[in-house]
Amino acid sequence: MLLMIPGPIEISPAVAEAAAAPPDSHVSPAFIEHYGSALERMRQVWKAGPEAQPVIVAGGGTLAMEIAVCNLTEPGDRALVVNTGYFGDRMAEMLARRGVHVDQVRAEPGSSPSTDDVAKALDAGDYKVMAVTHVDTSTGVRTDAEALAKLARNRDVLSIFDGVCATAGERFDMEAWGADVYLTASQKAIGLPPGLALLVMSARAVAARRALGTKPPMTLDLAQWKPILEAYEARRPSYFSTPATTLVKALDVGLGELADIDAVFARHAQVADAMRAAWQVLGLTLLPADGLAANTLSAIRYPEGVGPELTKAIAARGVAVAGGLHPALKTQYFRVGHMGYSTRRPDHLLSTVRAVAEALVACGHSCDVEAAVKAVASRI
Ligand SMILES: *Cc1c(COP(=O)(O)O)cnc(C)c1O
Repeated sequence: MLLMIPGPIEISPAVAEAAAAPPDSHVSPAFIEHYGSALERMRQVWKAGPEAQPVIVAGGGTLAMEIAVCNLTEPGDRALVVNTGYFGDRMAEMLARRGVHVDQVRAEPGSSPSTDDVAKALDAGDYKVMAVTHVDTSTGVRTDAEALAKLARNRDVLSIFDGVCATAGERFDMEAWGADVYLTASQKAIGLPPGLALLVMSARAVAARRALGTKPPMTLDLAQWKPILEAYEARRPSYFSTPATTLVKALDVGLGELADIDAVFARHAQVADAMRAAWQVLGLTLLPADGLAANTLSAIRYPEGVGPELTKAIAARGVAVAGGLHPALKTQYFRVGHMGYSTRRPDHLLSTVRAVAEALVACGHSCDVEAAVKAVASRI
């Protein structure tokens, strides 16, 4: 089964080999080198400055969100959530549980609040933190991270970007844009199996943790992790809680494949254009409004007369895609991931479009299978 959901995704042979190796000791010289190198490579992929702190903790994207929330905020703080769907709701709930007062700027599913709306909201409240989902996996909407990061920076508001479906697939320049946290998980565009929470925190974010009166729970606390991360980056072992040695090694290998990150971003944009051309040939429309569609996945409306049975028909043709996720229109659309390793595999992309097209025909939607495959093939 070809895994074309918005994470977990197909992984490269080199990453698979690293991830399948027997576990290494967390104090072995080979592991220390992988850990230190992975931290350095995160700075490159995130385009973060030398004073920013990369963090690797065993867990998922939700844990990375929680680490950001618990180190930047404490009860009584105020936060603005730019909400574009399911993961914005999750962020708001998480902040509220931390005792933070949360306001939200929302948009209809498939849309995004305008930069002006966010600027007005920021100016109307005394916010410590603004949280944004870079790509909302439930709607396939990409927010204008550059503009939003700069809005927050100009107002001295700390910004958290949930990049779980974006990091290493969508352009992001942490240092130049002045973003404070950019977080993801290993199983999305980074291209690893699930299991690691990954984030980079700016010097301002690190200072915000130091200034907290209410400490985060111990395993989420940057103050616990920072000395460990610094030691490994200086190629010295250290211990707080055993790192996921196999996955950290695989991370070093995976990030090594993303060394030319600008080329990786450009490839995702090219592949997304190709996939969108195919959907158009098939008579399909996207859930995101014009200009807001992410490069890492497509959220596609079912055509007239077709419903959730389509994803089963696609699976029957060897390709796993995902159903809808946004609670308001779950049964009206499906999602196809096109990020990470598969963007370097034209055969994955062609098989996916063929499976979707043939499944559509099988479900009674008339369309030209070969023309759709050709539309992709000529663009990648
Ligand atoms: C997948 C995802 C998450 C959650 O990540 P988990 O690893 O499932 O905890 C959070 N935010 C976004 C945007 C995601 O796509």
